[in-house]
Amino acid sequence: QIGLVRKDCQEQGIVRIGAVADSYHAVKSHQSSSGVWCYDNFTEVGSNSTGLVKSDTHDREKNCIVWPINHYLGLNRHPKVIEASIEALKQFGTGCGTSAMSGGHSSLHKLAEKRLAAWLGKEAAILFPTGYSANVGAISALAKGPSCFILFDRECHASIIDGVKLSGAKFLPFKHNDPIDLARKLNKFASQYENVLVVVESVYSMTGEEACLREITELKERYDFLLFVDEAHSFGLHTERTLCTKFGLTDKVDFVMTTLSKSTASIGGVIATTNAFKTLLQVEANAYLFQAAIPPSDVAAIMAAMDVIEDTPELLSSLWSKVSYMRTKLTELGFDIGSGTSPIIPVFIRDSDTLLRMGQDMYDDGVFTTSVAYPVVKHSEVRFRFILNESHSYEQIDRTLAVLERLGKKYGVVAS
Ligand code: PMP
Repeated sequence: QIGLVRKDCQEQGIVRIGAVADSYHAVKSHQSSSGVWCYDNFTEVGSNSTGLVKSDTHDREKNCIVWPINHYLGLNRHPKVIEASIEALKQFGTGCGTSAMSGGHSSLHKLAEKRLAAWLGKEAAILFPTGYSANVGAISALAKGPSCFILFDRECHASIIDGVKLSGAKFLPFKHNDPIDLARKLNKFASQYENVLVVVESVYSMTGEEACLREITELKERYDFLLFVDEAHSFGLHTERTLCTKFGLTDKVDFVMTTLSKSTASIGGVIATTNAFKTLLQVEANAYLFQAAIPPSDVAAIMAAMDVIEDTPELLSSLWSKVSYMRTKLTELGFDIGSGTSPIIPVFIRDSDTLLRMGQDMYDDGVFTTSVAYPVVKHSEVRFRFILNESHSYEQIDRTLAVLERLGKKYGVVAS
């Protein structure tokens, strides 16, 4: 069967899992040659979205407007979030000292699981130490062994792919955001397996595009599979809390996953599902059983962030106004920003040499962001990725747009 699946995969020109893994190795070597950047977000430097950006291999540091951070609602410096975290530190101390299963969870963790289950629209929720380990732990536990088959969007996050590889299940990526290709593969392979798991993201992290969730859930009427949706890039950004709920689809999704390191500005991962599946994950997911739990102070930060989101609905409207402003301005300037709608805004450059030189000029002009370079993507798809946080001011957005306009014209990315 493995041979069959791989052959089919190659025939259709679809990337094999091995090829996906190869590209991760290439990313790692690319990063080590260009240096790993860090930034210190000192309050005296300015707002939440500026900081001192440094490279560990190049002798350079500069105050920049910072664009690669996923604190969508800027809550990492919110006084209530910091205060709650300090109080929990005093009460519970640092760290947990052991995994959830061996007693590492406090009453705060239990409360957080209840509250997250309600936010994610499910009966139960289970907390993992990170979003990465939630995906690896849950996927590898849910689709165990060769009687299971996993279909996943080929642009899924590395944590999903690592969970798939660890599961021992047969697997196949389907074409990015293409329910027709998914249906074709379900039709061809699903009946050969006892259990089929389909994994998608609600918003894709490299493009900011929303998944075709409605079409994918409709496939459940024809094929028997469990659906797993990673909401890392949408959780907390809508009044309904998730995109699945916003579109009225939560009941059709078996597992709603999110990370707690983005809108809730802390750390942790969560899977929301039924009580029965929660019990299964508690005994089968090694990342839950054998990994130290989230420190209570970080759980307190998550819950305080949820309070702030509930009490300050204008945070969401402000974020979305800024997203629409920045997307509109970039399009008016002539930049290709793809078809997404989220705060993740790709600016396609489509030429590797230009990406490199424009990125250096941007840093010199005080704007720092991620370059999505070859071999992560093809030369023709290289881009900058801007992640808009509510804490970016309009003044910072305008300054960034002015730098992009000047450099876009200099390098012929947009017409002068
Ligand atoms: N899923 C997706 C879609 C992600 O983008 C990420 C992180 N960028 C994760 C999972 C992992 O989350 P964390 O970094 O909080 O462990």
